[in-house]
Amino acid sequence: MSERASERPRISIIIPTYNERDNLEGLFERVSRALSGAGYEFEIVVVDDNSPDRTWEYAEELGKTGGYPVKVIRRVNEKGLSSAVIRGFREASGDVFVVMDADLQHPPEKIPELLKAIDHGADIAIASRYVPGGGVENWYWYRKLISKGAIMIGRVALPKIRSVRDPVSGFFALRREVVEGAELNPIGFKILMEILIKGKYGKVVEVPFRFGLRKAGESKLSGKTMLNYLKHVYRLMKWEGELDRLIKFSIVGTSGIFVNEGFLWFFVSELGMDKYIANIPATELSILNNFTWNDLWTFKDLRRYPFWKRLFSFHVAALMGAFVQWIIYAPLVYLGINYLLANLVGIGASFVVRFLFNRNVTWG
Ligand code: UDP
Ligand code: MG
Repeated sequence: MSERASERPRISIIIPTYNERDNLEGLFERVSRALSGAGYEFEIVVVDDNSPDRTWEYAEELGKTGGYPVKVIRRVNEKGLSSAVIRGFREASGDVFVVMDADLQHPPEKIPELLKAIDHGADIAIASRYVPGGGVENWYWYRKLISKGAIMIGRVALPKIRSVRDPVSGFFALRREVVEGAELNPIGFKILMEILIKGKYGKVVEVPFRFGLRKAGESKLSGKTMLNYLKHVYRLMKWEGELDRLIKFSIVGTSGIFVNEGFLWFFVSELGMDKYIANIPATELSILNNFTWNDLWTFKDLRRYPFWKRLFSFHVAALMGAFVQWIIYAPLVYLGINYLLANLVGIGASFVVRFLFNRNVTWG
């Protein structure tokens, strides 16, 4: 047993703070109890952005009077949540890092469960709101909807994190090696997502938890949050090369229009085929054109399924796209919107559906 204890990792709890004075004592108390109780050696790294309420000063004071193993970093020239966490990683001396908020919305009693998952081989353990047993306290339905919608956007835009249910959680644990040497962007908005894209790791585990109510003070996150989040997802897509794919997919799609029109002309004008019928082989030929270029170019590195499966799946996507285009076109026309404009909106929606289906299924 003692042998087991001696090989236990040392833990650094990284806590970014801004005006959190009134939460600190309870936080330190509960963190210490949870970690000592589970037999871990730990330090608390508080990264404070020079809070007007002097959170940094109080953290130091509590370290002295309460005997908590606290290391305080007071940042004067830098701001921002992600950069605070990255700074914390740099200053932390532990083998395993835990990141959490100061306001007790992240129950410290969950930390040992996260650490257990790491002990059992996970590289990243996420306290997750969206696995069975997890949840949020007292959120209106629209706040839940926004949260889940944002996560869905992130998961479809970034296939690498597709299997993670709560990739934007602010409460997680990871082995030091995951972020050591990773090029994390300090203006990144959701640090966990940044880590999931750029970190070095194998296994990710999610542990359910209930996101509680803020104990004291107030939330610092504003309405700009959503826009910043979308910007962040966009930057990560770019980094992942997913944006290049999107561009290639559009180029191929455009080439398909020419193939379609060209063959339609050829069948009708040169071969004298019926106009209503000629449209069918012309469309099929453009689908084959698009498939070929997407297979050889756009998704070249993602050819995992057999050729026939990819070809079939690509046709399913085309069919779905056509259906989506029509289901948007028809009601818009019915509502009196110009039919060409309605069609354009339909084409846009079809494009998104086809790209996502092909990226996640055909070449998933
Ligand atoms: N925080 C920070 N710098 C900031 C914004 C927030 O250090 O610029 C800290 C804050 O003190 C808290 C955590 O990040 O410990 C989460 O912030 P908040 O509770 O305001 O976010 P919410 O839970 O409302 O999404
Ligand atoms: Mg909070």
